[in-house]
Amino acid sequence: MRPVKTALISASAALTIVLAGCSTNPVTGRSQLMVVPESMAITQSAAAYNSMMGGLSKKKQVETGTARADKVREITDRLIAQAVRFRPDSAKWNWEVQLINDPKTVNAFCMAGGKMAIYSGMWEKLKATDDEIAQVMGHEIGHALANHTQERMSIAYSAGIGTELLAIALGAQQNTAALMQVAAVTAIQLPNSRESESEADQIGIELAARAGYDPAAAVTLWDKMGKLGGQPPEWLSTHPSPEHRSARLKELGTKVQPYYVAAKAAPGEAPRFLNAGEGANERVVSRAGEMTRDEYAAKVAKEGETLTFLSEPFERFKRGDTVFDCRLQCGISYSKRKGDWKRLHDRQQWRDLAVSVLQAGYLSDYSYFMLAEAAKGMGLKEASATYYRRAVEAGQEYGCGDDCGGFEVQKLAKSALALK
Ligand SMILES: [Zn+2]
Repeated sequence: MRPVKTALISASAALTIVLAGCSTNPVTGRSQLMVVPESMAITQSAAAYNSMMGGLSKKKQVETGTARADKVREITDRLIAQAVRFRPDSAKWNWEVQLINDPKTVNAFCMAGGKMAIYSGMWEKLKATDDEIAQVMGHEIGHALANHTQERMSIAYSAGIGTELLAIALGAQQNTAALMQVAAVTAIQLPNSRESESEADQIGIELAARAGYDPAAAVTLWDKMGKLGGQPPEWLSTHPSPEHRSARLKELGTKVQPYYVAAKAAPGEAPRFLNAGEGANERVVSRAGEMTRDEYAAKVAKEGETLTFLSEPFERFKRGDTVFDCRLQCGISYSKRKGDWKRLHDRQQWRDLAVSVLQAGYLSDYSYFMLAEAAKGMGLKEASATYYRRAVEAGQEYGCGDDCGGFEVQKLAKSALALK
């Protein structure tokens, strides 16, 4: 045991603990340990991306103005419009996609904050169809929405500190940014966990289906990749069992098939998000009328739809059938999530509020009260009355006491019932 190394490791651990925060992902509801704050992950990813693209551009490796470059933009823009539906805050990201001319590389990535690239090997080597390109980009966007890039940046950043860079990181602030950019680039090269891959698969295939791209392409893409061999691209990275993944993609595809059919029949309209530039939020004319990106985000957030894998409990909620009975086991999850509820309530993000309460699953009058408010906001009168009633009942034994997000839960619930 070498004392110097031990000291380094414990200093690094201490720093990690100081900076670390647990945050609940808005898309998956999974709790993630984050060392790097999201705002910093986004800023430094953009800086790393710009310098990467600058270098490639000098080497004439950034392809623009070709049919396939235009196609990638069209496909990606349609996917982003769906991404914003499930993470309205991502409407503010400076989404960007570039086609890197590198015929030997079959890969793609999406950094924190929506900076994306796809390599020309996708066409040259794989002969990927538009539907397959949509699956690739959907999967990568899924990683970004679920904050996997930030999660991996946290890992890369901690590892950097843990070794030679501890002294620099502790001593000089400006080096933190440099280190963070290295972490951003490392993050898109590190393999994701199987759990993350599985999340990206299910988010990606659904975004693609809702954008009008065939879910069956996820399976054909997977089969083509399997035959190709060589260095595995990102979305092949941590899958020891190809048969299993293929079967799972098929199963996911069946679930999202109705969205694909619906999108094909009546393509949705949305403003374009790609390469919008700083603060750009001009009004965009579409068949649905005229709207800005923010207006679109606000509109879709109120539609009260969730991703399919969240939809069963959500449908139960809408019918007024949600009943909580979990206390001890759900206590931690409740205390992590309930801090967000007041904010979601203030912003009238009813769907996201309901999903968060459902994911906590905790029996308390505050949980039922929040469900009631969400149901009311979504125009579900019957369900909201049911939940106000359950809030009053739960208050007898499971009241939130002084910790009710500033709401007088019992008083408000009773008066809502009296008004009805
Ligand atoms: Zn992946």
